[in-house]
Amino acid sequence: MNKIEHIGIAVKNIAESNALFAKLLGKPYYKSERVESEGVNTSFFMVGNNKVELLEATTANSPIAKFIEKKGEGIHHIAFDVDDIVAEMARLKNEGFTLLNERPKKGADNKLVCFLHPKGTKGVLIELCQEIK
Ligand code: ZN
Repeated sequence: MNKIEHIGIAVKNIAESNALFAKLLGKPYYKSERVESEGVNTSFFMVGNNKVELLEATTANSPIAKFIEKKGEGIHHIAFDVDDIVAEMARLKNEGFTLLNERPKKGADNKLVCFLHPKGTKGVLIELCQEIK
């Protein structure tokens, strides 16, 4: 794994949260995107070399809606940048981690992504992401 690519924060209202984080970070988001397959609206803020992703549910069945229902708003996942997501998935599976998807799927921000079950990672949902070139 190369570096932390971004930190994902689950929010109830993305418009209100975009304004809040723009105030906090001193700049607006640089990208917003709806990921229909995941049931989320996302926005990305750049902070130096790091990114913060805000996620809002678009449906009641969205994992983000369920997360907020259980835990409230807050840090939802940490994403790590990888060069070869398929190889990294195989390595982690072999190490005994539970992958939430068996194949990489298309995520926000032009990435292939895979999530690891938080039960095996001390309660933290981990996202692997590889830039689509
Ligand atoms: Zn993410």
